[in-house]
Amino acid sequence: GSQPQSLLAETNSFNDIKKVIAVVSGKGGVGKSMVTSLMAVSMNRLGYKTAILDADITGPSIPKAFGVTEKASANELGIFPLRTKTDIGTMSVNNLLENDTDPVIWRGPVIAGTVKQFWTDVLWGEVDYLFVDMPPGTGDVPLTVFQSLPVDGIIVVTSPQELVSMIVGKAVRMAEMMDIPVLGLVENMSYLTCPDCGKEIDVFGKSTVADVAKEYGIDVLGRLPIDPKLATACDNGEIEDFEGHWLDDAVKKLEVE
Ligand code: ADP
Repeated sequence: GSQPQSLLAETNSFNDIKKVIAVVSGKGGVGKSMVTSLMAVSMNRLGYKTAILDADITGPSIPKAFGVTEKASANELGIFPLRTKTDIGTMSVNNLLENDTDPVIWRGPVIAGTVKQFWTDVLWGEVDYLFVDMPPGTGDVPLTVFQSLPVDGIIVVTSPQELVSMIVGKAVRMAEMMDIPVLGLVENMSYLTCPDCGKEIDVFGKSTVADVAKEYGIDVLGRLPIDPKLATACDNGEIEDFEGHWLDDAVKKLEVE
């Protein structure tokens, strides 16, 4: 590919990581971490060894969603990932900072260097699918991260309030530059299901995600509703207990890629 091989970092020799899937978004707050978490939960339920690398250094949400807020330990061989209750391996900057309410005010190169270390120094072990919750946007930081990790495919998360076509266009161009396939789109906060009658309400108007996907020749992997129970599960560190099956088909598509 066109990815400059010299920039790619080698993972720890104890690791055997088969697929690396990066989850990106145009900006923060669209639910990229939510989708990363649910993807990992669905993949793990299929019986695959699953892990999450939280590369969203300035807005880490993985530890909270899974309730793994303890600090990471390390030995001379590397850093141990934090294991969730259903045995998903995770690593986030919040597991390393002494005080996880401290804001991360690092500059781009330090952020990218930290993500690279999560790849090189964490003892992930044997992993079928490693999901990477990327820094938001298509700027310098995500670009540098992409150049240092051997990403097999990209999933783009959008929400209906965004200029979806522009974001998808940028993500597709970034992926092309690095010769990484875009596996598909996930639309988050797509609709609301009425708790009384079950009717789907298009809160932000009719979804354009299918048209945009067609325009760029990529798949829609799934659509997630706005669900207050989902937000609560995340806040309580109970995302693994949440029964939402919106991404089951999506992970099955990844399986055959
Ligand atoms: P990002 O990673 O894109 O910054 P998050 O995944 O952290 O966004 O989501 C932002 C906030 O919105 C979080 O508080 C999360 O719990 C909430 N949220 C995300 N998706 C949904 C959804 N489908 N239904 C309800 N709340 C959601």
